[in-house]
Amino acid sequence: MADRIAVVGAGFSGAVVARELALAGHRVDVFESRSHVAGNCHTQRDPETGVLVHKYGPHIFHTSNQRVWDYVQQFDTFMPFTNRVKAITGGAVYSLPINLLTINAFYKKTLSPAQAEQFVREVADTSIDVPQTFEEQALKFVGRDLYEAFFKGYTTKQWGVSPQELPASILRRLPVRFNYDDNYYASTYQGIPRHGYTHIVERMLDHPGITLHLNSPFAAQQAADFAHVFYSGPLDQWFGGSMGELGYRTLDFVEERHPGDFQGNAVINYCDTSVDWTRISEHKHFAPWESHASTLIYREYSRACGAGDIPYYPIRLVQDKAALARYVEAVNATPLNVTFMGRLGTYRYIDMHVTIAEALDLAATFLAATQCGKPLPKFSVDPLAA
Ligand code: UDP
Repeated sequence: MADRIAVVGAGFSGAVVARELALAGHRVDVFESRSHVAGNCHTQRDPETGVLVHKYGPHIFHTSNQRVWDYVQQFDTFMPFTNRVKAITGGAVYSLPINLLTINAFYKKTLSPAQAEQFVREVADTSIDVPQTFEEQALKFVGRDLYEAFFKGYTTKQWGVSPQELPASILRRLPVRFNYDDNYYASTYQGIPRHGYTHIVERMLDHPGITLHLNSPFAAQQAADFAHVFYSGPLDQWFGGSMGELGYRTLDFVEERHPGDFQGNAVINYCDTSVDWTRISEHKHFAPWESHASTLIYREYSRACGAGDIPYYPIRLVQDKAALARYVEAVNATPLNVTFMGRLGTYRYIDMHVTIAEALDLAATFLAATQCGKPLPKFSVDPLAA
């Protein structure tokens, strides 16, 4: 069986690599520990309401990468969807990301774009040159009032630590706009697949060269049976956690069904710490092309990920980074033919489109390297560079 390739994990990383290798003539075994494919992007229709549910929380596909956008079109029709998030703070509802409507409503003003830019410059902390932490980043860009209203409480609930301990990169995911554009993402393309993400991944894996094994955890010792292993599981789990824990946040979703429309929007964030949940997602609003009499919502709660929980967000605090450095060294030294990839395999907070782009690049690198006998990469992307 030594000519066979193993792919561990049937999320986007695993599915893309498996497909690209199968198309190139390889025989690929995909091992997925859960009973379904698509990882945390998994979607499933609720039998009671008929609503397509994002079982592990909201996933909105957005990218400015033409290659990735073209690639995913092969597997389903992407329906137009613009994420227009609302946020509740201090007893009022605002628009997110912070834009001119947010600024004017929050300060009870009627500023023009130029006036708002000037105003925010005045309230922002200009003494911060290069922000190191989430808090510094927020204070530099929007000042204390907006930071405390929209980011401080939400971030403390989401990450379980003070924003003073978190990297500035987390906040850099969100834009600040001085116009009325309330599109949450600044990407060129945005949409949600008509039949859901699980359908896409099933189609990716639908190839005669691919054998899918569901409910099948993969142990490092099995690597000897394969010419190469592409591993998208948690990096520390490959080593049984022997060099310390890589910290994650996990999520709990409390599901409710209601008649009609519950909140009138797909996502509403709750920024105050007096409310325990971080956000409520109303899943039928992710599919505005469908019509359902009843509705299904998820109240989302974040907490530390323990043994047996599903890892969602890599925290990457100081102690995590120290453990990460030990694992990276161990991976680089292993004689096994294994490549670590994806969010869990490289311990990075990455979106779906980035995962797909990296998996396409990795598959191309692998195919080129095997042809000319070059050494194969141990990581899709260096986890320490992020
Ligand atoms: N964030 C916040 N308030 C909000 C929304 C986001 O403080 O209302 C912060 C929070 O720290 C979050 C980060 O910005 O983890 C990134 O937000 P994003 O919406 O990209 O998170 P995701 O949808 O990936 O959970």
